[in-house]
Amino acid sequence: MLALQGDFREHLLVLRERGADAVPVRRAAELDDVAGLVIPGGESTVMDKLSRAFGLAEPIKQRIADGMPVYGTCAGLIMLADTVRDAITGQQNFGGLDVVVRRNAFGNQNDSFETDLDIPELGERPVHAVFIRAPVIEQVGPAARSLAELDDGRVVAVEQGVLLGTAFHPEVTADYRFHERFLDSIGR
Ligand code: GLN
Repeated sequence: MLALQGDFREHLLVLRERGADAVPVRRAAELDDVAGLVIPGGESTVMDKLSRAFGLAEPIKQRIADGMPVYGTCAGLIMLADTVRDAITGQQNFGGLDVVVRRNAFGNQNDSFETDLDIPELGERPVHAVFIRAPVIEQVGPAARSLAELDDGRVVAVEQGVLLGTAFHPEVTADYRFHERFLDSIGR
């Protein structure tokens, strides 16, 4: 669990409740010991700065290139995107997901909302999705595929091999199917 900033504590609780041996990752040596990484929601600009300051950005990019499973929620999705729109000057990210993501895509007045998403491959029951100053996935490149869309067609969850990204926050709901999917991908 990347634990530099954001709501990593909620994710740690969920992962442990699902039976995973989840640990906070704050330095490169800790990254060496994990089979997969969850990147929480929070603030991507801060997560970017801290990951570089802590010497984690390059090792994370390397692990992603080597095929480590990663699940990014919200700011974590932004960190995983190959291209970020409305980034601040100099903002960097890890990349890996062949998508274009726009930060704060739902504007200021309506920057937080909840909705139910139909995601057939996660089962018949809709996924309750909480969006908090959320990004949206504006383009899905050939290497990635959309997993979930809003009623207006905007993409809010994607998958590319062992990389998974959601614009919303399953860790604040009681629906952990995305965490299960991530844990399945590390073969826990
Ligand atoms: N707006 C935040 C960002 O740009 C993301 C918000 C969130 O993670 N809930 O990083």
